[in-house]
Amino acid sequence: MVTTNPGLLKWFTSKNPREVLYKIMPLLAIYLSLMFYQNISSLLMLIFIFIGVLTWSLFEYFTHRYLYHTNFKNKALRWFLESFHLYHHHHLKDYRVLNAGLLLVYPMAILFTTTMFFIVSDLQLTGAFGLGMLLYYYFYENIHYYIHYKTYKKGYMSMIQKYHLYHHYFKWNKNYGNTTRIWDIVFGTYDDGYKKMNFNSEQIDDLITKK
Ligand SMILES: [Zn+2]
Ligand SMILES: [Zn+2]
Repeated sequence: MVTTNPGLLKWFTSKNPREVLYKIMPLLAIYLSLMFYQNISSLLMLIFIFIGVLTWSLFEYFTHRYLYHTNFKNKALRWFLESFHLYHHHHLKDYRVLNAGLLLVYPMAILFTTTMFFIVSDLQLTGAFGLGMLLYYYFYENIHYYIHYKTYKKGYMSMIQKYHLYHHYFKWNKNYGNTTRIWDIVFGTYDDGYKKMNFNSEQIDDLITKK
């Protein structure tokens, strides 16, 4: 039986996207002040924001595919990882594990931005890259929360809700993307079976966290 641990939840999860926003405010302030401390080409800024977006969306895909769904031999590592994502797979209505916490975003953001700084040696571009990553991270946290919280009938939210519920209920080794289908298509884990899921709104209501 996969369980979770309240001690871990405190550091590695957040109650909702609003709490996520409070937690990332200091990082946001740092990246924005790095970006605007002197003038720079806005096109270059936009390119680096976009690289940040791509980096975090790839990180989201690879973490889900290779970290959360791998059966590691190391027991401590397995116990740690199972406390979040596999627990989420087994307890879809437990909202406590829908959003990540301080100890995911801070170490990863620091690691990625430091690497970027060593590559480009430019604080402003590093700030733009960090901002792109953080915006996409916050977008992800909103999407993952609301697709387990509300039932959507049309548009992007309905598509990604079915896409994600298909991953949870039918094929855990397909459709790893929680915000986009692109990386599943690129890396061969896309399954369009979610399109044939003929769930009506009431059935989706039953699958998600709250009504
Ligand atoms: Zn989920
Ligand atoms: Zn999963």
